[in-house]
Amino acid sequence: MAGRIVMKTPLVEMDGDEMTRVLWKWIKEILIEPCVDLKTVYFDLGLKERDRTEDKVTEEAALAAKKYGVAVKCATITPNAQRVEEYNLKQMWKSPNGTIRRILDGTVFRAPIIVNGITPYVPGWKKPIVLARHAYGDVYNSVETRAAAGDSAYLVLCDKDGNERSRNLIKQFGGDGIVQGVHNLDESIKGFAVSCFNYALENGMPLWFGAKDTISKTYDHRFKDIFNELYEREYKEKFERAGIYFMYTLIDDIVARIMRSEGGVLWACTTYDGDVMSDMVATAYGSLGMMSSVLVSPDGKYEYEAAHGTVTRHYYRYLKGEQTSTNSVATIWAWTGALKKRGELDGIPALCGFAEKLERAVIDTIEGGKMTGDLVPLFRREGVVPEKLDSRGFLYAVADRLQS
Ligand code: NAP
Ligand code: MG
Repeated sequence: MAGRIVMKTPLVEMDGDEMTRVLWKWIKEILIEPCVDLKTVYFDLGLKERDRTEDKVTEEAALAAKKYGVAVKCATITPNAQRVEEYNLKQMWKSPNGTIRRILDGTVFRAPIIVNGITPYVPGWKKPIVLARHAYGDVYNSVETRAAAGDSAYLVLCDKDGNERSRNLIKQFGGDGIVQGVHNLDESIKGFAVSCFNYALENGMPLWFGAKDTISKTYDHRFKDIFNELYEREYKEKFERAGIYFMYTLIDDIVARIMRSEGGVLWACTTYDGDVMSDMVATAYGSLGMMSSVLVSPDGKYEYEAAHGTVTRHYYRYLKGEQTSTNSVATIWAWTGALKKRGELDGIPALCGFAEKLERAVIDTIEGGKMTGDLVPLFRREGVVPEKLDSRGFLYAVADRLQS
């Protein structure tokens, strides 16, 4: 096809499973390839191929993302016992996202895609609240045990030769109870902070971070200190020049401020807060199909994907030849995010321009009343009657907009 945008560096393309794998192919065919001479290094992370390669393909894909710097990933199945049976797997392979996160050492940022007509459950939220979750340590890598009446629990620290450095009594148990040990690493907290500061700068958003340092005077306080020190030393001036700011305050205060805000902030969360709050924020913005996600490493590598899974129930209907109306917006956003970033890094404004035009076309299509079934009950716009399209029909409607 003539006149297509030419790329320099390829994107790392990670294909996936089920309904999102079907959408993946259609998005490329209907929306991207007519306009872009797409260059990708392709990895098939579909479960069959992960099983065939004993999951080597996931590792190779993550290493390629490290090498090329920008990846786009389709949703993938994280196998459980039922999947082991369904796919006759050699073993219960680990979560591909976990593997990629481990290799890139990144932070996940989740941002809702906002359209007029779909009002968040919190009416004051006009702009996206982007949530960054620290994905290491705390209760997710904890050691815990039950204690019986009469037991004593201590926090004991030994040096590398095994000599005891300190011993603190946690509790002398008068009755039966429970006890837990958690940890985190300065290096990991720093990496998280760097990713957050960089994301805030790149997207021109203020950064809010909250923990419970008044109660946890050493543990949570360490998070606060690392963020503050790094900010003062390396980011304050850059933030001021960009007209944004960083604020640390107690997590309770942040929650209250978030509810009162109009959005437009990057909210950094410790891992437990992020786990819980990301579900709240995603739900409040309407549909899982409208939540985008990007993994950013401290050294500036990017992996874009949808926040939702492989939409299994729709896939089984598709296999039976039935019509599906699966929302492709978050998966389209994965592509536009990756193309924009590639365009930025390689100095190809036309590529960035195309990605923006495609996003605009998606938003205009929905605002004009054409959408997938999940959005119909949420949509309210005067003078516009929402029309439910099937999965492919929605992509054609977007393509029509894109051309006009
Ligand atoms: P899911 O695929 O996100 O789907 C859950 C339900 O949410 C769907 O059944 C559907 O509801 C609705 N939904 C989600 N995305 C939608 C979309 N784009 N359009 C319309 N409706 C959408 O989560 P799941 O069923 O828990 O997991 C399915 C598989 O995905 C699992 O094997 C899991 O391991 C994997 N997963 C992968 C990732 C990832 O790769 N990042 C993330 C999460 C889950 P209705 O059926 O009611 O329409
Ligand atoms: Mg959660």
